[in-house]
Amino acid sequence: MSAVMSTYGRYDLEFERGEGPYLYTTDGRRFLDFAAGIAVNSLGHSHPHLVKTLQDQAAKLWHVSNLYNIPDQTRLADRLAEATFADKVFFCSTGLEAMEGAIKLCRRYHFANGAPERWRVVTVEGAFHGRSLATIAAAKNEKHLEGFGPPSDGFDQVPFNNLNELRNAIGPETAAIAFEPIQGEGGIRPADLDYLRSLREIADEFGVLLLFDEVQCGYGRTGKLFAHEWAGITPDVMAIAKGLGSGFPIGAVMATEEAAKGMVPGTHGSTFGGNPLAVSVGNAVLDVLLEDGFLDGVEKKGKILWDRLSEVVSRYPEVYKSVRGAGLMVGIKCVVPAGDVVVAFQKEGMLTVPAGENVARLLPPLNIEESHIDEAIKIVDRVGKNWTAGDG
Ligand SMILES: *Cc1c(COP(=O)(O)O)cnc(C)c1O
Repeated sequence: MSAVMSTYGRYDLEFERGEGPYLYTTDGRRFLDFAAGIAVNSLGHSHPHLVKTLQDQAAKLWHVSNLYNIPDQTRLADRLAEATFADKVFFCSTGLEAMEGAIKLCRRYHFANGAPERWRVVTVEGAFHGRSLATIAAAKNEKHLEGFGPPSDGFDQVPFNNLNELRNAIGPETAAIAFEPIQGEGGIRPADLDYLRSLREIADEFGVLLLFDEVQCGYGRTGKLFAHEWAGITPDVMAIAKGLGSGFPIGAVMATEEAAKGMVPGTHGSTFGGNPLAVSVGNAVLDVLLEDGFLDGVEKKGKILWDRLSEVVSRYPEVYKSVRGAGLMVGIKCVVPAGDVVVAFQKEGMLTVPAGENVARLLPPLNIEESHIDEAIKIVDRVGKNWTAGDG
């Protein structure tokens, strides 16, 4: 038995190398990677610009700590600020750290305003914000909380897409509303754009901060740099991570200057956050995402995937129910157990990820080509056909 702690249920697959949207197992089999490390490998595997950047940086400097200036960190922060609503960026290494930092920032904002009693955060059912003690308390998923003692106080939860309940949950102690514009783990549930606009209005009306968790749905996945852009509104604070390093661990808290005003020296930190290796790769990923036409290409490929998937899904109503999502963040709601569908896709050579609400998630690298969509559709078709024929 392995010494690795058994916190994960794993598939019996071992990969040796990857190239673009393909992964190769140690025994030489090829898989179409529409899992992308759970929306992490945004530019697929072994992207030449990223490989070269990492190799060059590895020969120069890995880590110095945030006791010193890190020029590439400044550059990445400036570029992210330039491309978004944000004025200030704090780097960390993971999604939960980004959410924790964002929650701390919201509390400090009200503290700096002389209202330290505003510290609670309203969250939404079905959300996922990470696995720290605070972020499991925020999401209130019973499976993630069980056995870990009383959940941290400070989080009030309301149903998804219900504005009345949301308004009622905001009180004199509320600091922020935290929300994933498209729930990932929850089952690829996009919020209505009108709902997102209303969140902005409600946050303004009550003087609380609007915090978006775009750890999964952000960074180009929907065909805009960030998913909230579709609604034409901006948050005050945002947590990002997964796609940011295309596989190198890096996350960030982004905020307006006003929202970040409480974050003065000494209030927050991360030893590894934004180290030279991480930010060199972060800059290289952004080079590609910000290339002319790249995000338009994601939107276009997302539409093709959506149309073709909808067509094939409608042909096997005993297996698949519907398609949901946006851009290259797509869920197939299944009739049969989604976990079994994911395994059936694997047997046909495609990797996907199960999610809540009986959904199989397709999260391909953002730089796939139409031919890769063809390949995926053929597999979805074959699995639907076999299952319907009774040997699924
Ligand atoms: C994955 C995820 C997180 C947590 O990220 P980790 O890097 O696993 O800590 C937080 N929020 C959302 C929306 C996620 O999808």
